[in-house]
Amino acid sequence: MIRTVGILGAGQLARMLAQAGKPMGLKFIFLDPAKDACAAEFGEHICAGWDDEDALRDLGQRSDVVTFDFENVPESSASLIESLCPVFPSPRALFKSQDRLREKNMMQELGIPVAPFYPVSSRPDLIAAVEEIGLPCVLKTRRFGYDGKGQMVLRFQEDLERAWQELGDHELVCEGFISFDAECSIIAARGAGGQTVYWPLTRNLHRDGILAVSMAPAFDTQLQMYAETLVRRLLDHLDYTGVMALELFIKDGKLLANEFAPRVHNSGHWTIDGDCTSQFENHLLAICGLPLGNTHSESLSLMFNLLGEMPACVSQHIFDETTQSAIHWNDYHKTPRAGRKIGHVTVTDDNLAGLRARAAQLASALGVAAELNLETVMADLPESGDG
Ligand code: AMP
Repeated sequence: MIRTVGILGAGQLARMLAQAGKPMGLKFIFLDPAKDACAAEFGEHICAGWDDEDALRDLGQRSDVVTFDFENVPESSASLIESLCPVFPSPRALFKSQDRLREKNMMQELGIPVAPFYPVSSRPDLIAAVEEIGLPCVLKTRRFGYDGKGQMVLRFQEDLERAWQELGDHELVCEGFISFDAECSIIAARGAGGQTVYWPLTRNLHRDGILAVSMAPAFDTQLQMYAETLVRRLLDHLDYTGVMALELFIKDGKLLANEFAPRVHNSGHWTIDGDCTSQFENHLLAICGLPLGNTHSESLSLMFNLLGEMPACVSQHIFDETTQSAIHWNDYHKTPRAGRKIGHVTVTDDNLAGLRARAAQLASALGVAAELNLETVMADLPESGDG
């Protein structure tokens, strides 16, 4: 029987895991070098570096199972813990996700469509890759890139040298620029015995490489089935346990994979308020070897990420009663800082007209209505949830 869950990382994802685990009777121990880690108030915080072997051993010895809330935990640290207690998802899945080249090679071997890509370790490699792929293309660091960091779009020949000056110190991958029609993600959970469940395919809007909005359910059954087939290949290949997110581009009705995350994902935060079982609950159920919860969604949801600081409208009485009752704020209790993810807000409704009206009110209160152009994007959403 699992009572104590260890988490490498104590950011907002660990915080929401712990919030979901509380009613399940779980206790949490977090390991994170940040003194002010925002999950810490929900359990014990071991404040230590990712490579502190004594601290890692301590976590492994006192936990019944260990998971992680971000993928740049060194694989060697996860493996050290694995010698003491189960680690889910496995360090192998972590290893595959930590390097874009490794990740793309694996996807290609599994028949998952990806943009054309070439490894780049030198200037001549870059020139050859751009010749093969053509412009525009995207140059990305193989490791430690997130939220659009460590990548540059090359549009003109003269961008090559600038990009090389900026990123040339790293191992790189150059990939084709996809002029996508939309971005989406499929989030799945795989539990004991291979039981697998999928949440509705979520449509995502990014601003400056950072997720701004997610909405779901957002696509028809055919695309949903296709996305499920793709993520299933990864899950089965890795004999995976836990929640995985696969980020995809949609182009002319077809899906191309961008990257996968071996963890709960920002584009699945809407599941807390908009689905029978949240991604956080199912991740815990999966790693504890328990049957997974139903991922059926009866309503439509739209989530806004909140960056910098919590908006003033949280505490102002500006929404009518029906709108207010459909808005769910989540404050991660992080110190405000420009561009930092400090919370999110989800609005739900059982029909599209209602969701549109409420999302519009909320977007205008958040001051993002003009820049996000939600009206146009929401025109494509289905009329109701997946039931
Ligand atoms: P990533 O760090 O790979 O998740 O990329 C962050 C964002 O950059 C994606 O969500 C896309 O909006 C954009 N992006 C990344 N790769 C490509 C690509 N090959 N073509 C077009 N846009 C891309």
